[in-house]
Amino acid sequence: MSSPNAESTAFRSALEVIRAVEPRVAGAIAAELADQRESLKLIASENYASPATLLAMGNWFSDKYAEGTVGRRFYAGCQNVDTVEALAAEHARELFGAAHAYVQPHSGIDANLVAFWAVLADRVEAPALKKAQARHVNDLTEADWFALRRELGNQRMLGMSLDAGGHLTHGFRPNISGKMFDQRSYGTDPETGLIDYDKVAEAAREFKPLILVAGYSAYPRRVNFRIMREIADSVGATFMVDMAHFAGLVAGKVLTGDFDPVPHAHIVTTTTHKSLRGPRGGMVLCQPELAEQVDRGCPMVLGGPLPHVMAAKAVALAEARRPDFADYAQRIVANAQALAEGLLRRGATLVTGGTDNHLAIIDVTSYALTGRQAEQALLDAGIVTNRNSVPQDPNGAWYTSGIRIGTPALTTRGLGTAEMDTIAELIHTVLSQTNAGANPDGTASKAKYALDPAVADKVSRQAGELLAGFPLYPTVDLT
Ligand code: PLP
Repeated sequence: MSSPNAESTAFRSALEVIRAVEPRVAGAIAAELADQRESLKLIASENYASPATLLAMGNWFSDKYAEGTVGRRFYAGCQNVDTVEALAAEHARELFGAAHAYVQPHSGIDANLVAFWAVLADRVEAPALKKAQARHVNDLTEADWFALRRELGNQRMLGMSLDAGGHLTHGFRPNISGKMFDQRSYGTDPETGLIDYDKVAEAAREFKPLILVAGYSAYPRRVNFRIMREIADSVGATFMVDMAHFAGLVAGKVLTGDFDPVPHAHIVTTTTHKSLRGPRGGMVLCQPELAEQVDRGCPMVLGGPLPHVMAAKAVALAEARRPDFADYAQRIVANAQALAEGLLRRGATLVTGGTDNHLAIIDVTSYALTGRQAEQALLDAGIVTNRNSVPQDPNGAWYTSGIRIGTPALTTRGLGTAEMDTIAELIHTVLSQTNAGANPDGTASKAKYALDPAVADKVSRQAGELLAGFPLYPTVDLT
């Protein structure tokens, strides 16, 4: 534990130094803390990193180029970067029980690109790939892509569909993964909203993908990775799991056995800033046979690593190895379930009828709203969420019919199941009192809505009172 005033002093001093150069930046940083303190954050992909994690990012590591890997750099003087990169990788291996960890990816998207290219390089013999590996993907022309894809044999990827909760990087345009692969997706059962493993197996048999991808941004249930691996094996596919959203639940041993991706997948990617509560960044874990190709992420996909972020990853991963992180992970799920039950009790409709992870999807068509209307109305009342597609969404990916809510951030703040019931009441109040608006020609608008400002104000005040009992960063006083 640092001394009681250390965190306040550190952040106050940092702001003083920044203020002397560009006061507007110092002002924006302080305002961001104030805004975060005041908002009821239910964005499932966000969290609050610890002061130690935040502070590990603001230092001299930011100045260092360190292309290459630990002990094998293209720049001199990387001994200290080696220390933090090796530490972050060691913590990651220990925490997740992985054979190999590559901690350089700058984001989740980067981690997925590193993984895709590693699998291609491992599985397919192609001279154009060697050429591409010596460059960055952004430098490839459209013609290069076609040549590469032809030479690679139009390799196939099977991943979860976007509207069922999959992620753009699992083969969808406009993401680059949709150019690299001939993609097909599996959805969820129209009745239950759950993954139908028999249907996934059928799609795999028909499509014969090189890579089977599991993982999601908006699926409120556990995925059985043992079954998914069996499906991958039955068609000779490499099995990849993107655990960006639920890495914290794996780290905290809430997802174990068939639901822990690490022992089952050939390769696992993740972000470090969502439920894992680290700095913004990505990471790849893999089995030994893929390690060499994974470590080639830079320069194929990545530029120089961000040593200051790798330092922060090492700090956050060390925190995630402590026993209290397991307790945190348990509370994330208990809170999500309490929130879901509170909403169901008040008559809301949830995709799959509930949750057993950190998130839930409210189908707001039962309130006669689109996702966009609901998102904005909630925001007016001080509740920050994001709109999200529901399976077979009638309103498309822009307006959507769902609201995604998640509990990692509020759980970090200390809110518990009793507060989740209050939040369910606030959400239900806003959604049930919001009316869809009309276009000038009288047709129904998917964006306009009406919410009595007095209701919005009242809910916003109640949310503020609730949050006041759970101060964010209580050890940081900027005044
Ligand atoms: N993979 C999944 C499943 C995600 O949900 C996300 C982000 O939302 C990403 C990858 C991309 O992460 P990043 O925004 O860090 O690139």
